[in-house]
Amino acid sequence: MKYVDYIVVGGGISGSVLSYTLMKYGASVHVFDLPKENQSSVVASGLWNPVVLKRMKKVWKADEMMETLQRVYPAMENWTGKKFYHPLPIRRVFHSAGEQNQWIAHSDHPSFSPYLNESISSLPEHIIAAHGSGIMKQTGRIKVKAMLAAVRATLKASGNFTEEKFNWSQLESHGDGVKYGSLGAHAVISCEGAQTALRESKLEVTGFAPVKGEVITVKLEKDLGKECIHQGHFMIGEGNHEALVGATYAWEGFRDGPSSIKRAELEEHVRKVWDGSFETLTHKAGVRPAVKDRKPLIGPHPKEKNVWIFNGMGSRAILMTPYLAENLAEHFMYGTPLLEECQPQRMVK
Ligand SMILES: Cc1cc2nc3c(=O)[nH]c(=O)nc-3n(C[C@H](O)[C@H](O)[C@H](O)COP(=O)(O)OP(=O)(O)OC[C@H]3O[C@@H](n4cnc5c(N)ncnc54)[C@H](O)[C@@H]3O)c2cc1C
Repeated sequence: MKYVDYIVVGGGISGSVLSYTLMKYGASVHVFDLPKENQSSVVASGLWNPVVLKRMKKVWKADEMMETLQRVYPAMENWTGKKFYHPLPIRRVFHSAGEQNQWIAHSDHPSFSPYLNESISSLPEHIIAAHGSGIMKQTGRIKVKAMLAAVRATLKASGNFTEEKFNWSQLESHGDGVKYGSLGAHAVISCEGAQTALRESKLEVTGFAPVKGEVITVKLEKDLGKECIHQGHFMIGEGNHEALVGATYAWEGFRDGPSSIKRAELEEHVRKVWDGSFETLTHKAGVRPAVKDRKPLIGPHPKEKNVWIFNGMGSRAILMTPYLAENLAEHFMYGTPLLEECQPQRMVK
């Protein structure tokens, strides 16, 4: 019988970052993952941005999360020997003179100045807009598919990854641990993301309010260059005249896959902001595992013994998971308190 400290169920962004972090803190893990084509992580654009640009507000715990992110992803690159961490300035295109003034005022404030460049930039060629743009600092992009593949390969090489569905009905829980087939562990951590949010997992977790998202890739007449342009939707230059455009938001049709309505919305956006012809190449949909009160679900399962939850990353998994994974690892290793606002218990009436 093989023993590990933790069985991790799910190898999306959450399961991958958490597994790395637990190991860095000295714990052993075994990951079960059966990837699905429309899983959230595979569709994700992979951007991180600590500011909600529409409302000019910082994300919850933005500074702490940014500090952790900038340490953890480069360390994961060293661990896996693969490259997927790409700092990339986000360019916010202003819709009005008022928005431009708001940017200038915020960029002078000590809380925002680490993230907003104070000068107003002219727009790149072929982008249509009347009020200029502001450039963000410390933002960037994780090439998510590359990161997941790198983590999977590294775990597989040490015999700590099984590509199959974890069957919760076969889990046996006893006094101080769990048994799953020929594997023993202290506990299981569910990182099942969208599948739990859509109640497709046998493990019931309450509190989700899933949000569907769609993206397209387009072939542009002229190359966009190394640009990530935020103008309501994102348009990210991928090289070779291609760009990723997204993402949309919807609160229904979770199991229907890509929709013609959202494709039309994204193509209309390109027509509005891009001065040139284009052709749509791909169109994908995924479901964000978002939570009713917009805080993740991290902590012990309210009912199941020796089962923990690490889920509910909504639309900011890249920014949040390194910080939240360290909080959970430090709780396991040193008894550091868990974040009260993330406890799954809060959703139980
Ligand atoms: C269109 C779109 C764009 C987005 N863009 C961004 C972005 O730019 N930046 C950002 O930070 N976030 C973005 N997101 C959100 C982000 O994708 C999610 O928050 C994140 O992927 C959630 O990751 P996860 O690992 O928790 O869940 P998931 O991605 O759902 O991964 C869960 C994994 O567990 C596996 N699994 C589940 N149950 C089992 C089981 N019983 N046994 C074995 N395996 C199992 C699944 O198959 C899957 O591989 C976007 C989302 C969408 C839809």
